[in-house]
Amino acid sequence: MIKIDGALGEGGGQILRSALSLSMATGKPFAIDKIRAGRKKPGLMRQHLAAVRAATEICGARTQGAEVGSTALSFEPGPVRAGEYGFNIGSAGSTSLVLQTVLVPLALAGAPSRVTIQGGTNNLAAPPFEFIDRAFLPLLRRMGFAVEATLLRPGYYPAGGGEIVVVIDAAQERRALHLTERGALVSRKGEAIVSNLSYLIAQREVARLRAALDWPADCLQAMTETRATGPGNVVVVTIAHEHVTEVCVAFGRIGASAETVASECADEANAYLSATHPVGAHLADQLLLPMALGAGGAFVTGAPTQHFLTNVVVLEAFLGDKVRLTKSDEGCRVDIG
Ligand code: ATP
Repeated sequence: MIKIDGALGEGGGQILRSALSLSMATGKPFAIDKIRAGRKKPGLMRQHLAAVRAATEICGARTQGAEVGSTALSFEPGPVRAGEYGFNIGSAGSTSLVLQTVLVPLALAGAPSRVTIQGGTNNLAAPPFEFIDRAFLPLLRRMGFAVEATLLRPGYYPAGGGEIVVVIDAAQERRALHLTERGALVSRKGEAIVSNLSYLIAQREVARLRAALDWPADCLQAMTETRATGPGNVVVVTIAHEHVTEVCVAFGRIGASAETVASECADEANAYLSATHPVGAHLADQLLLPMALGAGGAFVTGAPTQHFLTNVVVLEAFLGDKVRLTKSDEGCRVDIG
């Protein structure tokens, strides 16, 4: 039984989700303690439990400690079963993070799957649907994982009610991913989206994006999204280069002006544009598992985050020495496999 220290590095929920994915994909059982010791409210929250339950269902795992508030869990996986699944987080918890947990094990299961997940689609501290769809999945497809995601309905905190559908074909021949340069700029787009809130908010955000990014007006759009059940506001900037697409987001919230939200997103986009590394910080920690479980490869990112380094330690607990980091002019080169 592999022992994982949940207080490691970052000490967050990612340690658990990565361990679940790796355990399902390798068939190796694990026990984790001090779950989310680095967070204000340690232990399993509803959204982490949703990931545990999803993992348990797809591989018929035996678990101990799978309950809200639990700080220790053991997980003994059975064989992953591809098929038709529906997971309801039952709160505004992130659908992307549940997907992140089950996606690669299902893609490696040798038969097609279709997964519906209900919850939040645009959450703080989680990949928004736009990031999954535009930045992450195209790279997975390049690695030979045939995955498509559709947003049926966005869900924002606190109402939730979002829904995504993910269709996973049996993995094709796996290919190494080499992502060491961005290539030429192909397109750039800034969107300010409101649901059940004044359109004026989105217009103010677009005005601020325009000033902060210095992009022409036809790259920017204010939109109303009518499918969400609750109120929500998100600013999304998408920068597509030949070899990689980056998606930056900021979320509207009580106490932050439309201008503040748009500036946060623009600052992140400008930071990416003024650097040269192809892989941003979030993409870097999310590419580790699919690359290590797939055919490996290499990418160049900025300075490694705590999150990234923590994920490397969890990965190596299951797969051994697989990741090599080399300092480069642009930040860090990561070789996997
Ligand atoms: P918790 O313990 O509260 O669950 P956590 O450690 O699981 O926290 P985070 O560290 O905040 O959660 O990150 C979870 C995942 O979401 C990581 O894979 C991270 O890369 C990703 N993520 C966070 N923010 C973004 C973003 N803006 N765009 C894309 N991915 C993001």
